[in-house]
Amino acid sequence: MRRFPAPIHSVVSALSRLPGVGPKTALRYTFALLLLSPHELDSIGRAISNLRNIQVCNTCLAYAEKPRCELCSDSKRLDNVLCVIAESRDIATLEATNAYHGKYFVLGGRLNPIDGATPETLNVDPLITRLEAHPEIEEVILAFSPDVHGETTMIYLARKINSLGRKVTKLARGLPIGADIEYTDEVTLGDALIGRREV
Ligand SMILES: [Zn+2]
Repeated sequence: MRRFPAPIHSVVSALSRLPGVGPKTALRYTFALLLLSPHELDSIGRAISNLRNIQVCNTCLAYAEKPRCELCSDSKRLDNVLCVIAESRDIATLEATNAYHGKYFVLGGRLNPIDGATPETLNVDPLITRLEAHPEIEEVILAFSPDVHGETTMIYLARKINSLGRKVTKLARGLPIGADIEYTDEVTLGDALIGRREV
């Protein structure tokens, strides 16, 4: 890379750490930031810095501002159904469908032993503990993207959860194979939720 002033280099190298952002894109973003006013730069800096205050909800393991997130504290949410998702951000995707009113649990990824994601590194034990402590949970929805790792994870979890005597469902086949639920539109995802089937 050409020699730029050190502050430019440090922002480029920080942005390059983000997924999907290579050095060229990072440089483009950095030059776009240089066009902003000092006030706007301060406010972006503060917003990023405030991420330090984010913690993990002690019940669903999603990112939260408090030890217990708003969804887990919401008494209007159904207690008899639990939706298991790979990542915290999947909650926003599923909430946008307006088709689900139960609670969530974040597994922290999908089984992928080659990349080091095993039942031990994922939140499998906390999930089983939660189910054992909450007999009122009658149905567990496995809302993973229907690709190889998502399917492997769902097969593994379904076996474990079935052995606890709970009904296990997964999203209907409205989702194309290999689709990422993060990029599926709300209507399709909502239909897949409503039409979920038992596994
Ligand atoms: Zn929570």
